[in-house]
Amino acid sequence: MGYAAKVIALDDVRASQQRQALRQQLHERFDQWLDALELQLPEAELTLNQVSETIGGWRQPLTASVAQTIVAHRHPEEQRRTPLHCATCERLLKARPTVLRTVETLVGAIELERPYFSCRHCQCGRYPLDEVVGLSTGRRQLDVQQAAVDLATELPYETASTLVGRLRGITVSSERMHTLTHQVAAGLGGLEVAPCREEIDRRVAQRAAGRLCRPVLVLGIEGAYVPSRPESARGRRPGQARQRARRARWRHEWREAKGFRFYRLDGDRIVHVLSWHQVQNEHDLGEALQQVKDAGVIPEEAVRLCVVCDGAEWIWKHVQALFPNACQVLDYYHCAESLHKVAKAPYGHTLQAPEWVEATLPRLYMGQVGTVRGGLRRMQPTAEEALKAIDNCWVYLNDHRGRTDYDKFRRGGYPLGSGGVESSNTFICHVRLKRSGAWWYEESSTQMLALRCAKDNGTFDQVFTLYQHQKADS
Ligand SMILES: [Zn+2]
Repeated sequence: MGYAAKVIALDDVRASQQRQALRQQLHERFDQWLDALELQLPEAELTLNQVSETIGGWRQPLTASVAQTIVAHRHPEEQRRTPLHCATCERLLKARPTVLRTVETLVGAIELERPYFSCRHCQCGRYPLDEVVGLSTGRRQLDVQQAAVDLATELPYETASTLVGRLRGITVSSERMHTLTHQVAAGLGGLEVAPCREEIDRRVAQRAAGRLCRPVLVLGIEGAYVPSRPESARGRRPGQARQRARRARWRHEWREAKGFRFYRLDGDRIVHVLSWHQVQNEHDLGEALQQVKDAGVIPEEAVRLCVVCDGAEWIWKHVQALFPNACQVLDYYHCAESLHKVAKAPYGHTLQAPEWVEATLPRLYMGQVGTVRGGLRRMQPTAEEALKAIDNCWVYLNDHRGRTDYDKFRRGGYPLGSGGVESSNTFICHVRLKRSGAWWYEESSTQMLALRCAKDNGTFDQVFTLYQHQKADS
């Protein structure tokens, strides 16, 4: 046997011995846990439910002790380490007595005993074990924080706090949930919650393989109303229950969350690609869209981009500037609505208008907007209000005449309505923000929206990785 082979064999033996030692320790922990469990189980007439409940309620001490044993076993050198060079001045530092730290994870509370090193010259201290195992500052570790924020982005903080206790056996107060959500979401922009280009390519390519023409990628832009409270409503510290119970001195308001969503239509199914909703103005939305474009995450050359929305001028301005080659579709249902307004305007004794609209909608659907406009011109209303409605409708159709060729759009596989972005308004904004009694500060609502977009985009883990890195750097 050569020298190298002998060394490898020795390494194998050592690794096997270490594995055995760990197993031994884990078995001992399990035995201790079983002893404790036996005392917990009721003596007579044990039902399955009682077994499940007892083990369920008692599972954290077991999983925590397993985790603690494994961590201790894997990092013996960090626990016994001495000495250590100062990271700044490179002086050799002696280990101070070990300090016990308890941290909370999803598998339970874990105790870590680790040496402390401090440099008098640089006035800094370090726990090398904390760095190696990637501990978060504070008692609750990242997995607990993520579970808490995961629930808080779906449900009111109070409910989320109760449920995380009931389902995961951990305590996170609703105030803490609120703070955590705020910390994780701070500074998130459209790009941070966007999937990477490879992932978007994958979504766009789904079922597109083998088809002759490039798939249609739809961009929908729309607003949703968010129940808001003004900044002036701040002032009382949370927890001052007596003060808060008083009648509010501020007036609630509804603010518009503007958002965009990229998605693919696959038959009746929507393949979600990317969404970004915020309480923001037109300019901010344009900037967010610009960022997404500049980052190159949208595979413009591989798709036929189509923008569908209502008639708002600012939307088309952004679209024209950023995606000049995109097919522009005026939402058919908004367009039909403008005709209905004509039908509803008071005409006095004649029934001509409603009948005309009924007969005209199929023409609109076929994209014969010239004929529709001509029809509007030929109408002879007597009332001022009707005249105005007809005029508005004509101007609306004329302004958007390049965006109403619905027959051509249909044949090209483009959507006629902006249902895709309307539904994302519902499940990103309304589902969480519109709750009875909930009025949001702007910062809280934009942060909640950012996290919900991350979930929708499939980037919630990515957001947490980012958060972890930011914490480590700070
Ligand atoms: Zn130093």
